[in-house]
Amino acid sequence: MNIKRLLPITAFAFAIGAVFFTARMEAQPDTIKQMAPGVWFRQGDIDGKGHCNNVIIEMKDYLVVIDANFPDGARLTMADAAKVSKKPIKWVFDTHHHGDHAYANAVWTKAGAKTFAYVGVAQEMKRYEPSRWKGANRKDVSDLNLPTAEPPQQTFDKSPFVLDDGSRRIEFHHFGWAHTRGDGFAYLPKEQILCTGDAVTNGPYNFMGDGRVANWPNVVANALKLKVKQVLPGHGGPGGVEVLKGEQTFMRELYAGVSKLKKAGKSADDLTKMGMDKSLEGALGLSATSKNWVGKSLAQQAVVTYEEIAAGKPHGEIAGGK
Ligand SMILES: [Zn+2]
Repeated sequence: MNIKRLLPITAFAFAIGAVFFTARMEAQPDTIKQMAPGVWFRQGDIDGKGHCNNVIIEMKDYLVVIDANFPDGARLTMADAAKVSKKPIKWVFDTHHHGDHAYANAVWTKAGAKTFAYVGVAQEMKRYEPSRWKGANRKDVSDLNLPTAEPPQQTFDKSPFVLDDGSRRIEFHHFGWAHTRGDGFAYLPKEQILCTGDAVTNGPYNFMGDGRVANWPNVVANALKLKVKQVLPGHGGPGGVEVLKGEQTFMRELYAGVSKLKKAGKSADDLTKMGMDKSLEGALGLSATSKNWVGKSLAQQAVVTYEEIAAGKPHGEIAGGK
């Protein structure tokens, strides 16, 4: 690609979109940052290695890690955790069943940690595994030499599940089906920090195939009932409550925009074509608030939404059955 030709366009986009690109500019893959005393955010390298973000939370005698990651992401997180605290990692929380968040479960349990999740995560694994595990096509996964993904060792079905050792309280919530049927959030009420997994990402990272698009804004609305100062997403940089509101707005507008285009007679193929000729974003009527969530997957996201509306059931049921 000709970089020189791209530059003026990029500069222009930058100028008009500066405020919306702030979050993405702060993307610092493979770095760890303290967000509050005893709380660290590790930004995974999604573009280069497909990793998710991790959060390391210090309790009185042990550490809690949010998300298992892929195996090589887990090892990087373990090494960083050892740099910030000598305490052992006792709990690892899978925010959902996807490989970049849960395929290293076996790495953590081998190291002595206990993996846990909302019960929906284990159920999603039953729906989609071992087929996705076998098709993962990643050396760090095949090197584990396991026939399938290791499910979380412990699950909870009453939300929230709480860890409180007197030094800190962490609540693990399930607010309904957005990104997957197992979506879990970790909330620190004193620090007002919310770890969202992929139910809320900060940037164009919404994978929606296992999702329920129509319900997504409702799940975010439930999260918005909490007092939140900092949002630590599954992908993208950390942010404030505007990340929750932006994700919600994007999902609402995407759904409304696709509904409108469908009523106007457009097909799913038309949406794909409009993605290619770049007319889709305008046709969907996405507002400036949604820009941070718009990227190269927009057409795919629109098609998923279209299929959900056309089938009259959550897209995750089209993908994985009841
Ligand atoms: Zn995911």
